[in-house]
Amino acid sequence: MVKNEILIIHGDDYKAMAKRVLEQADLAGLIGSRERHIGLKPNMVVPKPASAGATTHPELLDGTLEYLTDHGFTNITVMESSWVGADTQDALRVCGYREVIERYQIPFIDIKKERSREYDAAGINLKVCDAAMKVDFMINMPVLKGHCQTTVTCALKNMKGVIPDSEKRRFHTMGLHKPIAHLNTVVRNDFILVDNICGDLDFEEGGNPVEMDRILGFRDPVLCDSFVCEAMGYHSEEVPYIVLAEQLGVGSRDTQGAVVTKLNEGTLERRTLPMTGRVKKLAAYTEPADACSACYGSLIYALDRLQVRGQLSGKHTPVAIGQGYKGKGGKIGVGNCTRCFEKSLKGCPPRAVDITAFLEKEWD
Ligand code: SF4
Repeated sequence: MVKNEILIIHGDDYKAMAKRVLEQADLAGLIGSRERHIGLKPNMVVPKPASAGATTHPELLDGTLEYLTDHGFTNITVMESSWVGADTQDALRVCGYREVIERYQIPFIDIKKERSREYDAAGINLKVCDAAMKVDFMINMPVLKGHCQTTVTCALKNMKGVIPDSEKRRFHTMGLHKPIAHLNTVVRNDFILVDNICGDLDFEEGGNPVEMDRILGFRDPVLCDSFVCEAMGYHSEEVPYIVLAEQLGVGSRDTQGAVVTKLNEGTLERRTLPMTGRVKKLAAYTEPADACSACYGSLIYALDRLQVRGQLSGKHTPVAIGQGYKGKGGKIGVGNCTRCFEKSLKGCPPRAVDITAFLEKEWD
């Protein structure tokens, strides 16, 4: 897998999907020697099941551990700390990771109990816990989701879980963006397996999951977060920590120049999750017919952008989306399946950032 590649897989067998992404990336080849110490950093910010949209699905951890052990890696540690005020051990149990790590007999380190040291992170001193700095290869497993202060959160911000709670508090006094970018100049971020199954609309702690049923793979955390911005209706230049991380040499924001490898086509939306109040209100502006999860999720994120800008007031023609519109006519639709409509946005699936611009211009 080249550094600027993006791997995308859709479906509902999350463990098999995770393994397929790792095979495609040739993760074993990227890691190299079987002696190397591998760290896994899921997101267990709060003790809530992954269906709430805040934490990494345990199937991703399961698939990654199976892949690694099948390829002869044994020196593996899972590590994380929940946010300030939450108990990591509670999250370990509620998120379903305890059962997974016990099955593989993999040690877990609660970062809250770890010793930390101060490092010069590109000009500012930041404390990082020893466990994270000791690994030879870090697999970051964030959730693609919104965040009330930083707009989006994924690879770069997920590494905040490897610093002590006292430092997390200090990050907030520093405005989050700058310390998050600088932190990523010292912590390892060798492979990123993104849980884009049902991340939250705009809160780190979940509550309004948007079902997309995708898993993504990256080697560049800045490229990852830039892709995430566009998947949620933003441009990366709107998120200061991503811009700063690029300036500090952590990675590249160039999504247009990236190599996108789709491992399969989109799957029809399954609606395994009940829509919460906020998502339901946005869904009222849509007319889906056999829409793929990723397509529909992109439309929901785009509608949320318009809502925040005050552009969802009044009557609008519902936006058609889904394979049920193939070859049919209509007023306005998004995605290649609606290409026969009077107004249609190309893409399979289109990005939320493009849907937002399209609806701003074309929606009656
Ligand atoms: S354009 Fe059609 S086939 Fe493509 S993702 Fe959307 S609904 Fe699925």
